[in-house]
Amino acid sequence: MLQVLRSGWLSTGAKCREFERAFARAVRARYAVALSSCTAALHLALEALGVGPGDVVLVPTMTFASTAAVPQHLGARVAFVDVNPHTLCVEPATVEEALVRLRQQGLRAKALVPVHFAGLACPMEALQELARAWGLYIVEDAAHAFGTTYGGRPVGSIGDITCFSFYATKNITTGEGGMATTEEPRWAERIRLMSLHGLSANAWQRYSMQGSWHYHVLAPGYKYNLSDVAAALGLAQLRRAEAMRRRRQEIARLYQQAFSHVQGLRTPPEAPPGDVHSWHLYVLKLRLRALRLNRDEFAHALQKRGIGVSVHFRPLHMQPYYQRAYGLRPQELPRAYWAFERIISLPIYSRMSHEDAHRVVEAVLEVLKEAAR
Ligand SMILES: *Cc1c(COP(=O)(O)O)cnc(C)c1O
Repeated sequence: MLQVLRSGWLSTGAKCREFERAFARAVRARYAVALSSCTAALHLALEALGVGPGDVVLVPTMTFASTAAVPQHLGARVAFVDVNPHTLCVEPATVEEALVRLRQQGLRAKALVPVHFAGLACPMEALQELARAWGLYIVEDAAHAFGTTYGGRPVGSIGDITCFSFYATKNITTGEGGMATTEEPRWAERIRLMSLHGLSANAWQRYSMQGSWHYHVLAPGYKYNLSDVAAALGLAQLRRAEAMRRRRQEIARLYQQAFSHVQGLRTPPEAPPGDVHSWHLYVLKLRLRALRLNRDEFAHALQKRGIGVSVHFRPLHMQPYYQRAYGLRPQELPRAYWAFERIISLPIYSRMSHEDAHRVVEAVLEVLKEAAR
């Protein structure tokens, strides 16, 4: 970090290249392009695949706003996909339902953007099979999934293009930042080109070459590059990533043990044996029939006890913009709607102490006792 500040080169340069190489190695990807956010990565990934006006992109409804905003930026149409009510990930059945629904309207989807919800991988093998059968590209939203594996392979080396976030709350962070990984050189090249104004050579190469004015504008690109300052943070985070992941795993284990046999609660699914859940989020589900409180009341009771809980996420098909733009009703994607009324995210982060985690457990059990029917 100091080294970067002293070098005088703060924007995209040698540190970014070093971060990209280290990141590609960590997720076993051939190419990695450092970007200013995961949103930027999703945008450029779909752009590189040629998504544009008139295209349809399949997006799970249970995700953050940017997963669906990005196809809209490209003039494409979003088709929301329901999720498995327990993993909160898309699964072949829900994707196929959406594909069939589109076909009945005379539409075909161009890409699917699975979200590895909370850090648990989607069933990629079956999704890839579907993608082959229906001619879909797969762009993974791996904002939660740095460190996640599927079938023994790290997320980042599986789909056509994978997008990571280094936002402040994510598993590794550069304050703000993102990364796109792929095996395909043409897509990596296109993403790199579009990330810095569409210039034939990036700024770092331009200024270190003689005759730096000889660049060409090859496309109307964006300003989505990562700074060397952020890349230096990212390199330091990568070195600590495994230790931080283990810590979150310990906290998740403690929660699982405390809550798995408790009436009124349903604990989140774990990764299959041999695979890694990165536990970006820990999302409990309330068994409402056993409780007198609804989810919001339960969450407020925890907040009153000083526990910082949240809800990930209000499904996008229940957000005002998408309800208006696509005329969607909550019940149209019934599993996500069902889950939304029951989910609650407990605090989980690598610097959380054992005492903190125990305090959360006690507060949840106290509220449960008061809420039990
Ligand atoms: C955080 C998040 C994003 C956006 O990441 P940024 O780096 O802030 O752009 C996208 N998708 C999901 C599922 C997220 O949680």
